[in-house]
Order: sequence, then C-alpha cells, then structure tokens
Amino acid sequence: MTYDDANIFAKILRGEIPCDKVYESEHSLAFRDINPQAQTHVLVIPKGAYVSADDFSAQASAAEIVDFTRALGTVARQLGLVADGYRLLANHGAHAGQEVPHFHMHVFGGEPLGRMVSPPARV
Ligand code: 5GP
Repeated sequence: MTYDDANIFAKILRGEIPCDKVYESEHSLAFRDINPQAQTHVLVIPKGAYVSADDFSAQASAAEIVDFTRALGTVARQLGLVADGYRLLANHGAHAGQEVPHFHMHVFGGEPLGRMVSPPARV
C-alpha cells in the first residue's frame, strides 16, 4: 500500500489542521483523539510517512523506532497513566478496521478499560 499524503494525520503533521498536542519529539507526535473511546485517549504517530504498524516495523529507521517507543512511554507517564494502567493498541488493515492510513498507536487510560477485544459477531 502506498502512502497517501492526503490522509488526516499527514495534514496534522503539516499543520494544515489543528490537533490537541500532548507531546512532540524529533520523530514522533502525540495528540488527543478527536472521538475519545476512554477518559484518556491519545494517538502517538511517527512523523515519517508510514501507512501502518507493518510498514513502520519494516521500513522505519532504528532512530525512528526508538524515538516512537520512547514517546509511548513518555506520553503514558506524562498523562499519569502508569500507576493505574493503560492500553496500547494499533490497528493494521481491514480486519482491524484501520481508518487512517498513517501508522498510529492508540493510548487508552484514565478508567478501567474492560476486555481487550470483543469477539467478532458470528451469524
Ligand atoms: P484507526 O481506526 O485508524 O485505528 O483510528 C483512527 C483514529 O483517528 C480514530 O480513533 C479517530 O477518532 C481518530 N481521528 C480521525 N480523524 C481525526 C482528526 O482529525 N483528529 C484527531 N485528533 N483524531 C482523529
């Protein structure tokens, strides 16, 4: 899958649309999800043009991967999520329902989060 420069997170990275930023580093940006699914719901994204978790893991530089991984921890600590716990989640592709084709990790917390996934509906 080729990277689509018109995706919404690319626009946020270019400053074309606003975001509620919580953290920024050399290679990563974190901002609040526009439609939060938990009391705290933040998205952490690499600044590089990676479509998905798969693309990022295969193509990103070591410096980008380290920066991104550290950003996840920093954001969780900065938001005070560590003591009570939090959840990291990345959707890749159709089966996971990925909506925005720029790699992002969801950080959920601030309240008990329930089961990790709901079983798929069977007919
Ligand atoms: P996905 O389903 O791709 O894993 O998650 C995409 C997430 O991006 C959703 O949780 C959605 O609410 C969020 N989102 C979509 N558009 C915007 C936007 O313009 N700003 C922000 N902050 N979040 C967005």
